[in-house]
Amino acid sequence: MRYYSLNRQTEPVDFRAATIAGQAPDGGLYFPETIPRFPAGFVEQLPSLAPAEVAYTVLHPYVGTTIPEAELRRICAEAVDFPFPLVPVTDRISTLELFHGPTLAFKDVGARFMSRCLGHFSRHETKPVTVLVATSGDTGGAVASGFLGVPGVEVVILYPSGKVSPVQEQQLTALGQNITALEVNGNFDDCQRLVKQAFRDQELMSQRRFTSANSINVARWLPQQVYYCYALAQWPSHMAPPVVAVPSGNFGNLCAGLLAYVSGLPVAHFVAACNANDAVPAYLRSGSYAAQPAVATLSNAMDVGDPSNFGRILELFAHDYPTIRELLTGYSVSDADTSATIRRVHAHTGYLTDPHGAVAYFALEDYLKQHPEVQGIFLETAHPVKFPEAVEPATGQVVPVPAALHELLSRTKRSIRLEPEYEALRAFLLEKR
Ligand SMILES: *Cc1c(COP(=O)(O)O)cnc(C)c1O
Repeated sequence: MRYYSLNRQTEPVDFRAATIAGQAPDGGLYFPETIPRFPAGFVEQLPSLAPAEVAYTVLHPYVGTTIPEAELRRICAEAVDFPFPLVPVTDRISTLELFHGPTLAFKDVGARFMSRCLGHFSRHETKPVTVLVATSGDTGGAVASGFLGVPGVEVVILYPSGKVSPVQEQQLTALGQNITALEVNGNFDDCQRLVKQAFRDQELMSQRRFTSANSINVARWLPQQVYYCYALAQWPSHMAPPVVAVPSGNFGNLCAGLLAYVSGLPVAHFVAACNANDAVPAYLRSGSYAAQPAVATLSNAMDVGDPSNFGRILELFAHDYPTIRELLTGYSVSDADTSATIRRVHAHTGYLTDPHGAVAYFALEDYLKQHPEVQGIFLETAHPVKFPEAVEPATGQVVPVPAALHELLSRTKRSIRLEPEYEALRAFLLEKR
């Protein structure tokens, strides 16, 4: 498989080069030259296939010969070694819980897959590669945990001081080993600006090898297809294909679902569930797209004004608006509706959603009202304990901390304070050598 840049100003590359580079040299996102079909019988066999086998079948056409079969099977097995249960919530709505990984967020799968691919590609390099990433909370934890202990890879994470939840901060700062957390006296935009500036700093880039680990990287994006396969594996075979609602920010997850659909997975319809950041729902209503400045919401992992992966969705459907609109309905859900949904679903069903899952629940419920013939699944992308400031006021109850987190929460926090100035980051990175 080869990947071309959506800007089409550079030559296509293989999976290895696309993973190492992250973004194409012309600034475009990499996109696969062909979308493989799932092998005959794959969908029918899903209920009996092991999760690692599903992941290998879905991903090996994308990886091609850049990773030997046995190694890719091992990477797949490690990336998905936790449960993905489909849990009924009402008689028409189920949820696929994607938060049983080490950082309690769905980004664990992509981060674990990417880290191991990068580790494989770096194993004969003498200079370690440094993953440099800015986080508003969730991404950094998944990246830190995914790359922990991977030989030949150093990780430097910038996060805004005082602006991540206590669980998230612990996941960034308490791991040690090859993970360094820089606690920036500023906000997320400062962190992102510093990282972008570092990647533009030719002199710094020539001193050592750097890469990013955000969702534009094909090795983080492509493995997310497996969630949709796991949902269908648990979907009763006598039922018509489900509608799937995806809480969306940068649209990597939803775009991966659309890839799986094009490869042959039976899904009736997709719901793009957004918060107030509604660039894509607005496009789906009007047919024209305009980037927006991001606004802060309760579902803060989706506060994205100009989603990177929207370009991939357009490409997948050859920019054909009628086709996209047939398959995808967008919703923009307010914070008031998000809170009310957390409260109402908890009171009526006993199920506790996190704010991102609640956005998807709200959108799915509305879609199902308009379409009485179908049933649906919403993706629960994070455990509610990661967002207590949104969940606890809505339900009036403290979210119990899962046992898996006790050990992490008891560890010592280690961070390095950084002023939000590029010279400070640059000096740190050069010294670290
Ligand atoms: C990152 C994230 C999202 C958004 O996923 P995208 O692939 O960026 O659309 C949704 N929910 C949670 C909890 C996240 O961390």
